[in-house]
Amino acid sequence: DPRLQAISEAIRVIPHFPKPGIMFQDITTLLLNHKVFKDTVDIFVDRYKDMGISVVAGIEARGFMFGPSVALAIGAKFVPLRKPGKLPGKVICEAYELEYGKDCLEMHVGAVEKGEKAVVIDDLVATGGTLSAAIKLIECMGAEVVECACVIGLPEVKGQSRLSGRPLYILVEPR
Ligand code: 5GP
Repeated sequence: DPRLQAISEAIRVIPHFPKPGIMFQDITTLLLNHKVFKDTVDIFVDRYKDMGISVVAGIEARGFMFGPSVALAIGAKFVPLRKPGKLPGKVICEAYELEYGKDCLEMHVGAVEKGEKAVVIDDLVATGGTLSAAIKLIECMGAEVVECACVIGLPEVKGQSRLSGRPLYILVEPR
């Protein structure tokens, strides 16, 4: 797909952010380019529009930058998966491992229903820990995660093996 190279080039790399040694993949520069931003959303839309998906779940915060556009275009609802303490209603919570320590992801009870088909969207997958927590939240409500979709997949993505067998769709690797 000829659009992928421009997507890759629109992602800025910031060395040593947020700490020394990390090459941070900054997708905010992709959002500044209307054509590339639209191409990114369109690729996801084309892939998911005819799959009977009724839920697009986005992971805080950068999953919120792509997920709602995809949801509107495919006729699905958008469900935010958030860091602890942000969602005001009754939530379910799923813990996951970070490089150092643990974090957790929350979803509103009732946001997805039994039997629904969902796609989970985030900007980047590294270990897959965050996506695997998202899958558990959605599937514990009796819905099915058809696929996880990210703009960037780090090559050290052992992520795939942590996704409980759910497929992972990524557009580009870091340059
Ligand atoms: P994982 O759980 O797969 O190890 O890490 C993925 C999560 O970390 C995603 O929610 C992603 O937004 C965030 N993340 C980690 N490193 C980067 C990075 O270099 N750039 C961006 N944009 N997000 C990152």
